[in-house]
Amino acid sequence: MKKLRVFPSIRFKFILFFVLLILIAMELIGVYFVRELENKLTVNFKDSILSRINFLSYNIEQELVKDREDELDSLKVDIRKILNENTSSDINEIRVVDKNLRVIGTSDNNNQEIVGQRTTDVLVTRTLVTEERIDQLVLDPNNGRTWQLYVPVKVGNQTEAIIYLEGKIENVFDQIKVINGILVSGTAIALAITAILAVFVAQTITRPIAEMRKQAQAMSKGNFSRKVKVYSNDEIGQLALSFNHLTRKLQDEQAKTESEKRKLSSILAYMTDGVISTDRKGKIILINEAAEKMLNVTRETVISMPIVTLLGLEEKYTFDNLLEQKDSIILDYSTRNKPFILRANFSIIQKETGFMNGLIVVLHDITEQEKIEMERREFVANVSHELRTPLTTMRSYIEALSEGAWKDTEIAPKFLMVTQNETERMIRLVNDLLQLSRMDSQDYRMDKDWVNFQSFFNRIIDRFEMTKAETIKFVRRFPKKEIYVEVDKDKITQVLDNIIHNALKYSPPNGQVTFKIMMYHEYIEVLISDQGVGIPKDQLGKIFERFYRIDKARSRQFGGTGLGLAIAKEMIRAHGGDIWATSIEGKGTTIHFTLPYERIQEDDFS
Ligand code: ATP
Ligand code: MG
Repeated sequence: MKKLRVFPSIRFKFILFFVLLILIAMELIGVYFVRELENKLTVNFKDSILSRINFLSYNIEQELVKDREDELDSLKVDIRKILNENTSSDINEIRVVDKNLRVIGTSDNNNQEIVGQRTTDVLVTRTLVTEERIDQLVLDPNNGRTWQLYVPVKVGNQTEAIIYLEGKIENVFDQIKVINGILVSGTAIALAITAILAVFVAQTITRPIAEMRKQAQAMSKGNFSRKVKVYSNDEIGQLALSFNHLTRKLQDEQAKTESEKRKLSSILAYMTDGVISTDRKGKIILINEAAEKMLNVTRETVISMPIVTLLGLEEKYTFDNLLEQKDSIILDYSTRNKPFILRANFSIIQKETGFMNGLIVVLHDITEQEKIEMERREFVANVSHELRTPLTTMRSYIEALSEGAWKDTEIAPKFLMVTQNETERMIRLVNDLLQLSRMDSQDYRMDKDWVNFQSFFNRIIDRFEMTKAETIKFVRRFPKKEIYVEVDKDKITQVLDNIIHNALKYSPPNGQVTFKIMMYHEYIEVLISDQGVGIPKDQLGKIFERFYRIDKARSRQFGGTGLGLAIAKEMIRAHGGDIWATSIEGKGTTIHFTLPYERIQEDDFS
């Protein structure tokens, strides 16, 4: 494991480079030097031998030309003397052979018996024939390399003898071997020193680099606190300085990006609008909490889902369509019970180069807006309809009158009566509308007074008691304890008027209307129950809407406009209370409303 880390390191490469450099240099020098040396030494060796041979050859020549009595023996003795004088440590043997191939002398003391014998050496013969000097290198298994030399000895123009010499050239090679050894050991020492030096040099270079590497690794893990030590002022030192500078910059930038990111994410989290962002391919990469709630999904399930799938737009749009979409798209997720409408706006995320990088979708809940818009349209339609009906009736009656009916003393008053009723109805309607619009406007004020609620309620019921049909029975169930509440008397009178009026309208001829007051800790509840037709369950809430009537024809017959309960609701709400209805169809209806009430303060009035 360790090896794997050492080998590719700069330090190793550095050492390797230096060692190889020295090795190659030494090798080149060695090869050149040894070759030159070898040449020089062999040439020297041969020259020294040749110069000795020349001298020898001259001496032998002198011996050969001497006049002798007993020729051969004295010659042999003389030659032996000459040879003995001329041998040296670099010569193995010197022989002299006469022109009849008979050995006449040798320097080898151990081999004197060959003197007088004929030699079989071919090269001696050849030298005799060619009269030229012959030499050759021979590898002798005992003595190593030897240099053999055949030199003709001439007397006049005639070759009279041959000198054969065996030189120990191996000595020269032995010397070269020793020098080679010195060279190799020198190289080894140089290599060792170079390697050690390279280690030091490499260390000074690699130590800061290794530190920078460590820091870069730490930085990639988000740790910016480390600093590289600056060892020198050279390029590496400057690199370390720049590196430290870069680290500081990066740290600042990182902190900036982090805080931007935090800001963005808290903005996204607290936004009421939904925000979804996609990548280039339209896959979701970000969705904020508001969007999760609006679309009723969780982040984990929708990340990397195509945006068109999430918004349910696959059938109508592709992602490319959305990129070109300039206007917003209305997404209607309404169910039968709950309206839910979103408006989606799209904007492309672009890089500086103009390259499209993704899409941002902003979802805005416009359910309430749409509802208000719808109500407004409905309201205008209702008002026009409500006004048109009495007007058409009046027009037809007035037409009839002007076409001559006015003369008819029986019909004319009836017709005039109808137009008068319709006019009053219209006035009532317009008054109601005015009242509603006044309550809708901001500067609506209430004129509140403390009232004893039982006596206030009693007075209103008494008024109805005088005008009601006798068969209808009123029952009052009030607590004994006096209740004081702070109300706008006119407004609450109007509310009660309408509720009691409705109760009478829808009561059977001998029905009973019950008035009840309940006391609670923080409010009182007023209940007005009748025994009339009742209200279907699904319409209990709707009767408080403007112009809402269950049976339009029947209601209009009673002169109703459908605004009474809507006005009552606004008024009760303005008092801080609530109003609702409970009913059993065919059995009767109860209208409940509450008014704020504080128990403690009752003592002030009692
Ligand atoms: P207005 O009160 O403006 O003269 P209205 O009585 O028709 O007209 P609301 O008082 O707002 O209008 O009542 C709305 C509708 O609620 C009525 O048309 C009627 O259909 C229904 N309603 C109200 N009170 C009762 C009740 N006690 N029993 C049965 N239906 C009722
Ligand atoms: Mg009414």
